[in-house]
Amino acid sequence: MFEKVLLRNAGVPGSERIDVYLSRGGYQALPQALARTPAELIDMVKRSGLRGRGGAGFPSGLKWGFMPTDPAITKYVCVNTDEGEPGTFKDRQLVEQDPHQVIEGVIITSYAVGAHRAFVYIRGEFFDGMKRWVKAIADAYERGYLGRDILGSGYGLDLSVHRGAGAYICGEETAMIESLEGKRGQPRKKPPFPAQAGLFGRPTLVHNVETLCNVPHIVQRGPEWYAGIGTPKSTGPKIFCVSGHVNRPGNYELPLGAPLREIIFEHAGGVRGGRAIKAVIPGGSSTPMLTPDQLDTPMDFESLAQAGSMLGTGAVIVIGEGTCMVDVTRRIARFFAHESCGYCAPCRVGTRRLAETLERVETGQGRPGDLDLLAGLCEGIQGRTFCPLGDAAAAPVRRSLELFRGEFEAHIRSAC
Ligand code: SF4
Repeated sequence: MFEKVLLRNAGVPGSERIDVYLSRGGYQALPQALARTPAELIDMVKRSGLRGRGGAGFPSGLKWGFMPTDPAITKYVCVNTDEGEPGTFKDRQLVEQDPHQVIEGVIITSYAVGAHRAFVYIRGEFFDGMKRWVKAIADAYERGYLGRDILGSGYGLDLSVHRGAGAYICGEETAMIESLEGKRGQPRKKPPFPAQAGLFGRPTLVHNVETLCNVPHIVQRGPEWYAGIGTPKSTGPKIFCVSGHVNRPGNYELPLGAPLREIIFEHAGGVRGGRAIKAVIPGGSSTPMLTPDQLDTPMDFESLAQAGSMLGTGAVIVIGEGTCMVDVTRRIARFFAHESCGYCAPCRVGTRRLAETLERVETGQGRPGDLDLLAGLCEGIQGRTFCPLGDAAAAPVRRSLELFRGEFEAHIRSAC
């Protein structure tokens, strides 16, 4: 039985309160971190093998190392709480049920990269999360974990919350920075990367909530302990969000590399009504579907890439036999068309055409050339857009067409 690390406090009564966090060993990693040099902390995170949990899986220690070390340069840390990938609800639980774990991670991370100002960017719809953030930050200030001279160390950090308006693209780090600056949330051209010129033109480190939660545990229990969890290249614990046609949807924390079959059948209770599995989306709706013969795929970055998909956010959506795959694909396409920021034509126009064409096919008004049209639209979008949203929109449609072409053809002959 895996001992929970990130969700160890979830479900404990009052887990969002600072006294409960302290009574369960919280804020003990902070003095240990402040007793080390920033370079030592960066080295620890590198040795732990921690990779970002927001979707891209970039090595966190490397990302920290990109920040300039000159103390005269103003630097920022941003906490990405804009979780919006359909099927993903782990950061929300972490913020609502254990906000001080995130704050402790933010303080240690900010100290390691020499930032004295950090910002939380939270999705507008996360109303409870917003309230928890505000209360937890106020309590952390009151107890001396935030503000000037934290725990008498001479290091100071200010942390505040900014509420977004609920746009999927603001989960992309440069769009989030634009929004934080008060502008329309649209991605920026890279380079320069945020570590060179981010918020207000200053070096900025952006991390997702789950990533930051790992940091206190790496400091307290050591990088070797952390690297011993998971696989050699995908280390540490991971929260898998399971939804769809399962008996027990929810967040399950397991080592990276846990087999998909174990997550679905042992933890999420199998498929509702004992139905067979038709397909599984392994990492949020932008990741290509897997088929039932791929259920033994280990859920880590490398294995999922080999299987033709991605770990993404670790949001597992189970689709039971009897589900209309044209409808599933149409819903995904409609989401991305709605969330396109409109900046570049292949995405702005292409996602809309994808959604319209799928709508037509799904309602039985499809035309003989529509499947080729869909394939052509995917071709015109993938690899040709300004940010990854275009690929995220096209990849699931392309995969669905490959796997379920017969179903699409049947819809063109008659409605669902
Ligand atoms: Fe905006 Fe889509 Fe272009 Fe990204 S790919 S910049 S979301 S229009």
